[in-house]
Amino acid sequence: MNRSKCPCSAEIVWAQSVNGKAQPFDLVPAERGNVAIFEDLVGFEGAQARVVPRATLEAIRAAAKRAGEPPPQHYVAHHSTCPRAAEFHRSGTGGSATAAGTFGEAPK
Ligand SMILES: [Zn+2]
Repeated sequence: MNRSKCPCSAEIVWAQSVNGKAQPFDLVPAERGNVAIFEDLVGFEGAQARVVPRATLEAIRAAAKRAGEPPPQHYVAHHSTCPRAAEFHRSGTGGSATAAGTFGEAPK
């Protein structure tokens, strides 16, 4: 399992971006999320995260709506919601070494 808790007490899930770096995402998918994590792999080592362009997200959601299916879920990089992200960046304390090294490096 690759879920954990941020020192800010949020539950996060780790996934690898396309460049192979582990990044934390909010465990709960959000409306404004723009990162697809291959669902079967959420919570597992090696889960892959891909940033989805806004236009593509809208197209995917519109297609799901037309098909009467629930929209696919997308995630938000935890560093954009973490109240302690700046703290991490500076000191690296309170989190794992991996977290300290990867906050602030969300793929574009
Ligand atoms: Zn946090």
